[in-house]
Amino acid sequence: MDIELVQGDITEQEVDAVVNAANSSLLGGGGVDGAIHRRGGPEILAECRRLRETRYGEGLPAGQAVATTAGRLPARWVVHTVGPVYSASEDRSDVLASCYARSLQVADELGARTVAFPAVSTGVYRWPIEDAARIAIEAVRSASTDVQTCRFVLFDAAAYAAFERALADSPG
Ligand code: ADP
Repeated sequence: MDIELVQGDITEQEVDAVVNAANSSLLGGGGVDGAIHRRGGPEILAECRRLRETRYGEGLPAGQAVATTAGRLPARWVVHTVGPVYSASEDRSDVLASCYARSLQVADELGARTVAFPAVSTGVYRWPIEDAARIAIEAVRSASTDVQTCRFVLFDAAAYAAFERALADSPG
Protein backbone atom coordinates (compact mmCIF):
# COMPACT_ATOMS: atom_id res chain seq x y z
CA MET A 1 0.00 0.00 0.00
CA ASP A 2 1.18 3.53 -0.78
CA ILE A 3 0.80 6.10 1.96
CA GLU A 4 0.61 9.70 0.76
CA LEU A 5 0.54 12.88 2.79
CA VAL A 6 -0.92 16.12 1.51
CA GLN A 7 -1.75 19.39 3.15
CA GLY A 8 -5.19 20.49 2.02
CA ASP A 9 -8.93 20.07 2.10
CA ILE A 10 -10.36 16.57 2.17
CA THR A 11 -13.47 17.61 0.23
CA GLU A 12 -11.35 18.31 -2.86
CA GLN A 13 -9.71 14.90 -3.10
CA GLU A 14 -10.16 12.88 -6.28
CA VAL A 15 -10.19 9.45 -4.71
CA ASP A 16 -12.67 6.58 -4.59
CA ALA A 17 -13.62 7.23 -0.97
CA VAL A 18 -13.11 10.06 1.50
CA VAL A 19 -13.37 9.35 5.19
CA ASN A 20 -15.44 11.67 7.34
CA ALA A 21 -14.56 12.39 10.97
CA ALA A 22 -18.24 12.16 11.87
CA ASN A 23 -19.95 12.17 15.23
CA SER A 24 -22.11 9.34 16.35
CA SER A 25 -25.38 11.07 15.43
CA LEU A 26 -24.33 10.94 11.75
CA LEU A 27 -26.37 14.12 11.38
CA GLY A 28 -23.56 16.58 10.81
CA GLY A 29 -21.19 18.66 12.88
CA GLY A 30 -18.25 21.01 12.48
CA GLY A 31 -14.75 20.51 11.08
CA VAL A 32 -14.39 17.82 8.42
CA ASP A 33 -18.02 16.77 8.89
CA GLY A 34 -19.36 20.26 8.22
CA ALA A 35 -17.11 20.70 5.18
CA ILE A 36 -18.15 17.35 3.67
CA HIS A 37 -21.88 18.02 4.04
CA ARG A 38 -21.51 21.61 2.74
CA ARG A 39 -19.57 20.62 -0.35
CA GLY A 40 -21.22 17.24 -0.93
CA GLY A 41 -24.79 18.51 -0.72
CA PRO A 42 -27.98 17.18 0.89
CA GLU A 43 -27.83 13.66 -0.57
CA ILE A 44 -25.23 12.64 1.99
CA LEU A 45 -27.32 13.80 4.95
CA ALA A 46 -30.40 12.09 3.48
CA GLU A 47 -28.53 8.78 3.47
CA CYS A 48 -27.21 9.38 6.96
CA ARG A 49 -30.78 9.95 8.17
CA ARG A 50 -31.84 6.66 6.59
CA LEU A 51 -28.98 4.90 8.38
CA ARG A 52 -30.26 6.35 11.66
CA GLU A 53 -33.74 5.04 10.89
CA THR A 54 -32.45 1.56 10.03
CA ARG A 55 -29.10 0.08 11.08
CA TYR A 56 -27.96 2.74 13.51
CA GLY A 57 -30.96 3.81 15.56
CA GLU A 58 -28.66 4.59 18.48
CA GLY A 59 -26.05 6.27 16.31
CA LEU A 60 -22.77 4.94 14.95
CA PRO A 61 -20.51 3.83 17.82
CA ALA A 62 -16.96 5.22 18.11
CA GLY A 63 -14.43 3.12 16.22
CA GLN A 64 -16.94 1.95 13.59
CA ALA A 65 -17.48 3.02 9.98
CA VAL A 66 -20.29 3.12 7.44
CA ALA A 67 -20.52 4.34 3.82
CA THR A 68 -22.85 6.69 1.97
CA THR A 69 -22.81 8.38 -1.39
CA ALA A 70 -20.37 11.28 -1.74
CA GLY A 71 -23.05 13.46 -3.36
CA ARG A 72 -21.37 16.26 -5.29
CA LEU A 73 -17.86 15.60 -4.01
CA PRO A 74 -15.32 14.34 -6.56
CA ALA A 75 -15.09 11.06 -4.61
CA ARG A 76 -17.61 8.24 -5.13
CA TRP A 77 -18.26 7.44 -1.49
CA VAL A 78 -17.97 8.95 1.96
CA VAL A 79 -16.99 6.53 4.69
CA HIS A 80 -18.20 7.97 8.00
CA THR A 81 -16.23 6.99 11.05
CA VAL A 82 -16.59 8.21 14.62
CA GLY A 83 -13.38 8.95 16.45
CA PRO A 84 -13.08 8.68 20.22
CA VAL A 85 -12.97 11.86 22.27
CA TYR A 86 -9.44 12.14 23.69
CA SER A 87 -9.09 11.26 27.35
CA ALA A 88 -5.95 11.80 29.41
CA SER A 89 -7.13 9.26 32.01
CA GLU A 90 -8.30 6.43 29.75
CA ASP A 91 -6.35 4.95 26.83
CA ARG A 92 -8.70 4.95 23.82
CA SER A 93 -5.95 4.31 21.24
CA ASP A 94 -7.52 1.03 20.13
CA VAL A 95 -10.76 2.85 19.32
CA LEU A 96 -8.87 5.40 17.23
CA ALA A 97 -6.94 2.64 15.42
CA SER A 98 -10.24 0.87 14.81
CA CYS A 99 -11.57 3.94 12.93
CA TYR A 100 -8.84 3.44 10.32
CA ALA A 101 -9.10 -0.36 10.20
CA ARG A 102 -12.91 -0.38 9.92
CA SER A 103 -12.88 2.40 7.31
CA LEU A 104 -10.51 0.32 5.18
CA GLN A 105 -12.78 -2.70 5.64
CA VAL A 106 -15.75 -0.68 4.40
CA ALA A 107 -13.60 0.61 1.51
CA ASP A 108 -12.84 -3.02 0.61
CA GLU A 109 -16.54 -3.88 0.63
CA LEU A 110 -17.16 -0.98 -1.77
CA GLY A 111 -14.24 -1.91 -4.01
CA ALA A 112 -12.48 1.41 -3.34
CA ARG A 113 -8.77 1.42 -4.14
CA THR A 114 -7.87 4.98 -3.17
CA VAL A 115 -8.96 6.40 0.17
CA ALA A 116 -8.40 9.83 1.72
CA PHE A 117 -8.37 10.14 5.51
CA PRO A 118 -8.44 13.21 7.75
CA ALA A 119 -6.62 13.16 11.09
CA VAL A 120 -9.56 11.65 12.96
CA SER A 121 -10.19 12.93 16.52
CA THR A 122 -7.58 15.71 16.33
CA GLY A 123 -10.07 18.59 16.05
CA VAL A 124 -13.06 18.99 18.34
CA TYR A 125 -12.15 15.64 19.95
CA ARG A 126 -8.75 17.06 21.05
CA TRP A 127 -6.43 14.10 20.41
CA PRO A 128 -2.78 15.32 20.46
CA ILE A 129 -1.60 15.37 16.87
CA GLU A 130 1.76 13.53 17.32
CA ASP A 131 0.09 10.60 19.03
CA ALA A 132 -2.86 10.56 16.64
CA ALA A 133 -0.48 10.54 13.66
CA ARG A 134 1.49 7.57 15.04
CA ILE A 135 -1.72 5.59 15.67
CA ALA A 136 -3.10 6.43 12.22
CA ILE A 137 0.05 5.40 10.34
CA GLU A 138 0.40 2.17 12.33
CA ALA A 139 -3.26 1.29 11.82
CA VAL A 140 -3.21 1.63 8.04
CA ARG A 141 0.18 -0.03 7.72
CA SER A 142 -0.96 -3.09 9.66
CA ALA A 143 -4.34 -3.39 7.91
CA SER A 144 -4.93 -6.24 5.55
CA THR A 145 -6.75 -4.52 2.69
CA ASP A 146 -7.04 -4.24 -1.10
CA VAL A 147 -6.83 -0.46 -0.85
CA GLN A 148 -3.77 0.61 -2.83
CA THR A 149 -3.42 4.23 -1.80
CA CYS A 150 -4.10 5.80 1.58
CA ARG A 151 -3.85 9.56 1.42
CA PHE A 152 -3.80 11.50 4.66
CA VAL A 153 -5.14 15.00 4.09
CA LEU A 154 -3.87 17.33 6.77
CA PHE A 155 -5.46 20.70 7.18
CA ASP A 156 -2.50 22.64 8.55
CA ALA A 157 1.29 22.59 8.45
CA ALA A 158 1.64 21.31 12.02
CA ALA A 159 -0.55 18.28 11.34
CA TYR A 160 1.31 17.63 8.08
CA ALA A 161 4.67 17.75 9.90
CA ALA A 162 3.42 15.37 12.61
CA PHE A 163 2.33 12.83 9.99
CA GLU A 164 5.64 13.22 8.18
CA ARG A 165 7.48 12.34 11.39
CA ALA A 166 5.15 9.44 12.15
CA LEU A 167 5.68 8.03 8.67
CA ALA A 168 9.45 8.37 8.93
CA ASP A 169 9.47 6.68 12.35
CA SER A 170 7.22 3.81 11.37
CA PRO A 171 8.92 0.53 10.58
CA GLY A 172 8.37 -0.72 7.01
P1 ADP B 1 -12.93 15.25 15.33
O1 ADP B 1 -14.30 15.59 15.84
O2 ADP B 1 -12.78 13.76 15.00
O3 ADP B 1 -11.84 15.78 16.19
P2 ADP B 1 -12.66 17.43 13.37
O4 ADP B 1 -13.36 17.49 12.06
O5 ADP B 1 -13.03 18.43 14.41
O6 ADP B 1 -12.86 15.92 13.88
O7 ADP B 1 -11.08 17.53 13.14
C1 ADP B 1 -10.28 16.51 12.62
C2 ADP B 1 -9.08 17.11 11.91
O8 ADP B 1 -9.45 17.53 10.61
C3 ADP B 1 -8.49 18.34 12.58
O9 ADP B 1 -7.07 18.19 12.55
C4 ADP B 1 -8.93 19.49 11.70
O10 ADP B 1 -7.97 20.55 11.67
C5 ADP B 1 -8.97 18.84 10.35
N1 ADP B 1 -9.87 19.45 9.34
C6 ADP B 1 -10.89 20.33 9.51
N2 ADP B 1 -11.47 20.60 8.32
C7 ADP B 1 -10.81 19.87 7.37
C8 ADP B 1 -10.92 19.72 5.95
N3 ADP B 1 -11.84 20.38 5.23
N4 ADP B 1 -10.05 18.87 5.32
C9 ADP B 1 -9.12 18.18 6.02
N5 ADP B 1 -8.97 18.28 7.36
C10 ADP B 1 -9.79 19.13 8.02
